[in-house]
Amino acid sequence: MDNRNLFINLDNLLDEHVKALRELQSGDGSRTSDYTRGFEDAINVVKKISFDLAREWASTAIYEHPPHPHPRSRIYRSEPMDWWIEDTTPSSLKSFIASRANEFANHNNGKSSAIIFDLDGTLFDVGHRTLGILKRWLTLSESQHFPKSLVKRIEGIGFNHIGYSLAHAFENAGLDLRNPDVMEVLVTVERYWRKKFFDGESLVEFDAVYTGAADFVWFCKKIGLKIVYLTGRSQKVMYQGTRKQLEKFGFPLEDAELILKINTVTDDAVFKEEAFRSVAASHNVVGNFENEYVNIRGMVQCDPKAVHVVVDSQHSGRPVSALPDKVYRIQSFAS
Ligand SMILES: [Mg+2]
Repeated sequence: MDNRNLFINLDNLLDEHVKALRELQSGDGSRTSDYTRGFEDAINVVKKISFDLAREWASTAIYEHPPHPHPRSRIYRSEPMDWWIEDTTPSSLKSFIASRANEFANHNNGKSSAIIFDLDGTLFDVGHRTLGILKRWLTLSESQHFPKSLVKRIEGIGFNHIGYSLAHAFENAGLDLRNPDVMEVLVTVERYWRKKFFDGESLVEFDAVYTGAADFVWFCKKIGLKIVYLTGRSQKVMYQGTRKQLEKFGFPLEDAELILKINTVTDDAVFKEEAFRSVAASHNVVGNFENEYVNIRGMVQCDPKAVHVVVDSQHSGRPVSALPDKVYRIQSFAS
């Protein structure tokens, strides 16, 4: 029995004993108070053991899954410790998806079946976009206004330094963000980065596709699923570029739905949960792929039975509360 099941069983047993104790305490007085106190002490001992075990389990889990330092980010690869994550492979996922799609086909409820894919960090590697924009900033005269030695170090930032944000790239390249000169240049580069990163053109110019991602989406299309691309990119500014990018890398577009964010102020997690609900209103959602734990959480809760998959690329590291339902995780789409 694994630790998770052990704790669930222990918890259930404790619940039963606490119930029995309540009955004793409110009983007909045929038991002595010593008897009841003995019962209560026994429960407290078990509770303590359970607490110690849980603590040990947590530290072992942390030991087994340390917040992995990753060449692309020293910080933001840690996963929520209290999630039920099953690491798997793209080929196993294909079987789960196909069998779930089959179940829906055999129990026709009048809805067609769909599968949802996030774009940034799920199908596309946006690290190249950040690096491309940074390199372009270095060609601007603005970059010459900063100390040469500092600019030289920024020139040394490579793809392996790129994390979730520019700050992580600086940090990963050994630039100390506590240094006011470093912060000044970071703030300036970030201003340029923000303008370019979301302009709808840089994504076509710089992003790379994750190996195997397009083939995976095609597999889903070929087994009859409607493809839904769901992204927090701005509908107004990035729709055209997003279509171009999907075409550029050979993703299926015919009959696919492309959902972008109309109101960019909306929080990504809220937007995605609402979008999931609206897709699920007219489709059986077979699966869902996303790189942000904080985004996928709400979507899992909309339909825990769908095959929910975290693509382990990089994520914001935003705090996220516990999730009792299982999510799958893949390192990449490459088989
Ligand atoms: Mg994403």
